Amino acid sequence: MPKYKRILLKISGEMLCGPNGFGLHSPTLQRLADELKQLNQIGIEVAVVVGGGNIFRGMKQGKAHAIGRASSDYMGMLATCINALALQETLENKGIETRVQTALKISELAEPYIRRRALRHLQKTRIVIFAAGTGNPYFTTDTAAALRAMEIQADILLKATKVDGVYNKDPLKNKTSKKFNQLKYIEVLNKEIKVMDSTAITLCMDNKMPLVIFNLHQKGNIIRIVKGEKLGTLIC
Ligand code: UDP
Repeated sequence: MPKYKRILLKISGEMLCGPNGFGLHSPTLQRLADELKQLNQIGIEVAVVVGGGNIFRGMKQGKAHAIGRASSDYMGMLATCINALALQETLENKGIETRVQTALKISELAEPYIRRRALRHLQKTRIVIFAAGTGNPYFTTDTAAALRAMEIQADILLKATKVDGVYNKDPLKNKTSKKFNQLKYIEVLNKEIKVMDSTAITLCMDNKMPLVIFNLHQKGNIIRIVKGEKLGTLIC
């Protein structure tokens, strides 16, 4: 029996661009879709929140192009829609039913976000991909992931990264860094650990949503976590 029946997976744009550092990387998308298919086949209800940083990162790129914060954030939200469609197509090509729901209405492309409808899709084991973040500028897709996890009453929020969890120092730069197996939300906030933005962590803390930071680059990690293996860093 899996430990978690309904999960919310947060995939940042960075996890979709592979080694290119920009845009979409087909082998990376295929691998992710294969992992999601495995979950789908054993009846796990999967919702995904996709980021957009591989295409457009509001604050940073907005400044570079002298575009105001709100407009550049909307551009970032549109970028998440591009990623959502790419993931949807990749999944559907593997025979998995999916729905994309967007927080900004683009009804020719996808359903608008409707919580009860998302729940119905999940119950029918369709993979639901949430795009356009929260639909509001000045937020991030991490916060959208926390919000949607609460709304759909996910058992756990899984944040995919390229490292094995939360470390005391950047593991990609420091060989002596130490991994935390478990942390309290308040420790993440107090230590200013940049693993998710503080709005997202606060939301999880206030609503007791457990969160696992894990390495997506290691094949099979999502299913291992779902089955109860203690991987990555649990924040609870
Ligand atoms: N964004 C936003 N509101 C949201 C979610 C996202 O304004 O609720 C914008 C913001 O500009 C952000 C961009 O969309 O930089 C892409 O999202 P994010 O940076 O969270 O993507 P990730 O880093 O996960 O790829």
